[in-house]
Amino acid sequence: MSQKTPAIKPSIDNAPIDKAPVDKAPVDKDLIDKRPSEKRIKLSVGDLVDFSARRGDLFSESGYAGPTSLEGIRGHQKVQKARNDSWQKEVSVKQAINQHGYIVTMTGRIDLLSADDQLIVIEEIKTTYRHPSQIAPSQQSLHLAQAKVYAYLYWRQLPTEQQKQHHAIEVIVNYFNVLDNISNPQSQRIQIDDLTDYFQQLLGRYIQWYSKVERHRQQVIQSSKALLFPFSDYRVGQHNFARQVYRAIREKQTLMVEAPTGTGKTMSTLFPAVKALGESLVKQIVYLTAKGSAQQNALVAAQTLVEQNLKLDYVVIQAKDKSCPCRSEEQIVRNSCVSSDGRCSRTIDFYDRLPDARIACLKTRHLDVDTLQAIADQFHLCPFELSLQMVRWFTLVICDVNYVFDPMVQLATFEQDRSQRVLLLDELHNLSDRGRDMFSAQLSSGETQQIAKALDGFPLVKKAANSLARMIKKLSEESILEEPPASVFNQVEKCLTAINQQESGAEGLNSGLANDVFGKQPEGYAQWVKALYRYYMIHQLFSESHRGFVLKHQFGRVQSTSINLRCLDCATLIGRQINLMRSMIGFSATISPVAFFSTLLGLDENARSLKLPPVFPVENQLTIHCDYIDTRWQARVGSVEPLIGLIEQVMLSRPGKYLIFFPSYEYMNSVCEPFIQNHSNFKVISQNAASTDQQRQAFLNAFFAEDDPIIGFAILGGVFGEGVDFKGDALHGTIIVGTGMPSPSAEQKALQNYYQQQGFNGFQYAFQFPGLTRVLQTAGRVIRSEQDRGVVILVDPRFSRNDYRGLFPAHWEMKRHSNINEISSSLTSFWSAAKE
Ligand code: SF4
Repeated sequence: MSQKTPAIKPSIDNAPIDKAPVDKAPVDKDLIDKRPSEKRIKLSVGDLVDFSARRGDLFSESGYAGPTSLEGIRGHQKVQKARNDSWQKEVSVKQAINQHGYIVTMTGRIDLLSADDQLIVIEEIKTTYRHPSQIAPSQQSLHLAQAKVYAYLYWRQLPTEQQKQHHAIEVIVNYFNVLDNISNPQSQRIQIDDLTDYFQQLLGRYIQWYSKVERHRQQVIQSSKALLFPFSDYRVGQHNFARQVYRAIREKQTLMVEAPTGTGKTMSTLFPAVKALGESLVKQIVYLTAKGSAQQNALVAAQTLVEQNLKLDYVVIQAKDKSCPCRSEEQIVRNSCVSSDGRCSRTIDFYDRLPDARIACLKTRHLDVDTLQAIADQFHLCPFELSLQMVRWFTLVICDVNYVFDPMVQLATFEQDRSQRVLLLDELHNLSDRGRDMFSAQLSSGETQQIAKALDGFPLVKKAANSLARMIKKLSEESILEEPPASVFNQVEKCLTAINQQESGAEGLNSGLANDVFGKQPEGYAQWVKALYRYYMIHQLFSESHRGFVLKHQFGRVQSTSINLRCLDCATLIGRQINLMRSMIGFSATISPVAFFSTLLGLDENARSLKLPPVFPVENQLTIHCDYIDTRWQARVGSVEPLIGLIEQVMLSRPGKYLIFFPSYEYMNSVCEPFIQNHSNFKVISQNAASTDQQRQAFLNAFFAEDDPIIGFAILGGVFGEGVDFKGDALHGTIIVGTGMPSPSAEQKALQNYYQQQGFNGFQYAFQFPGLTRVLQTAGRVIRSEQDRGVVILVDPRFSRNDYRGLFPAHWEMKRHSNINEISSSLTSFWSAAKE
């Protein structure tokens, strides 16, 4: 059953537009320079049109319903090359316009221009798979709007005498079909007066909004000048931390801060960043997190500052899947979301309802997840897309790192005005791993084959997918490639073309293959299409810091081959983004050695680092090095019994809540199972490779919500070893089995070779340092507050080697023990001292 989209009156056409005429005279340079910065706007034609002229439905514009970017470029070139010399190509326009007290500098580039004394023709090329009759009217009018603005700006920049010769301009939108190479020009002759009126309306609409945003921004600036640190005292190291952050922003530097738990990292970075706003050093603060749960810290800090009368506006971007109101947890689609053609009704006429929703967002100022959801409900919009629409206009944006760095999802707005933006990057130690994933791509023959099987109604895609599966399967035995296979890339391109054609065919978006269509896509189809796009993009970014891995594996009941374009080193790609921003402040409890992280992230030579002292009494943590249990692969069988004895001893010394971390499930189970058999008196819980969100929550509840002593078996580097705040009695200690080093897979060995060739110690970069980061992060779960006392036991003889000893936190007083009796005695005295 479908329900009609609620009729909410679009406001954009009804909104009163101040009809102040555009100043037709050229604006002199002095006036531009003297106008205060908040009264100067730089605006591209695309941005103006996108904001003021867009109507109708929300379309997924990249790829799903149109040519690939490469096809688009080639199409433009074909049309341009076919013209004779009377046509000018890629003509820049730039005009400063004085309107409503603002100086707006408009820029853009005209695809094709023909101009003489009699006639001016402006042509905008749009590549497509469709005939114009199949293109939505709202999209056509957007394309026409762009051409009209170019026409007006071109005419405006002519000398007055030439302006007088022309009373109209011919405006063409040329739909070039890349499948049959046929141009379909849609042409109109438009009077200059009409172009002027039209431009004035669009710009008026933009300025009307911009001035509201600017008023808010001025309130933020004024209130931030008066803002005081929100707590009566700074914690240990916090004042220095905040000072260094401010300095880094002022000096346009990158700063990496290693700050132990309890320093108050979020406020130490947000507060000085807000003060920098007050000094107009930056216009936007982007708080980046690697995990959704960390967004809450940033939100709480922002709310704390708001309580201090800071007029801060903020928006939180929650992942699309999590914020979608149309699917319940069981993936049941709500009726109110389905339009008559199966599309999500919240995308239909999205841009008609957006202007009112934007105003509501601006009035609210504080767009946390619930508020955004409520406004999205009120205007029947997709909350995720609404949040993205607001990013450009809000002062504080709290979001995942991928919106800045991932080439598939990065937001165009973060590419603009980078020098006015500061990034506050939480959990910095995770960024290089996340970055490698963002610049990698994988396809498998098994999955492709399975999708092809389910695509009976879509012959073009089915055929292309089958060929792709065969092509991947044909790749030689397991191997490492210096170059990605061109054959796979070409076939991926054919698949994407087939997908887009199918979606643009006679049935248009109703084909069931478009984004956010309910119930018509085969299971896993959307993920597969995304994987194709990612592969297509990463192939083109493939560089000497990538390798291709061909792997054979089982997919269900079939033998499958996968091709993995793996990024080994994302330093250049990540570093480029960081270094272009005014400043980046990255922080974590574990960024040692600093040179290692700086190299991994491609930071420039101006980057600084800061190490802060421990906040909590160091004697509250007992750190033991258990050096008599060898955890290396070949010694694991022999390690099971001593490990069981160690866990038992820890529990007997002080019954409580303990987490035991292992490098793999296999190793974990080899200890966990016999432990349970012989210790029915202890409550035990273990992590599961395929656990659901609810099961993970149940695991945590055993530590947070219950009082009983418990032993949790978990995976080192997994979900329980990072980002969980085991405060108070939630955790009494942890045993970390092994050095945390990644397993020596082909990829990890390639990483080692790569760094070795780059002149670094390949073993340290690929194995030792990443392992140590996991160990230190995990150890950091134990002491989370001033009152916490707890035990950290590191199990592996290698920890006493010189190359490890210098890497542990300087304040750790690690006791090295060579048998269970020594450990027992240390534990007993530690817990007895706690009672005194
Ligand atoms: S567009 Fe997609 S994510 Fe947004 S509300 Fe509709 S189904 Fe959910």
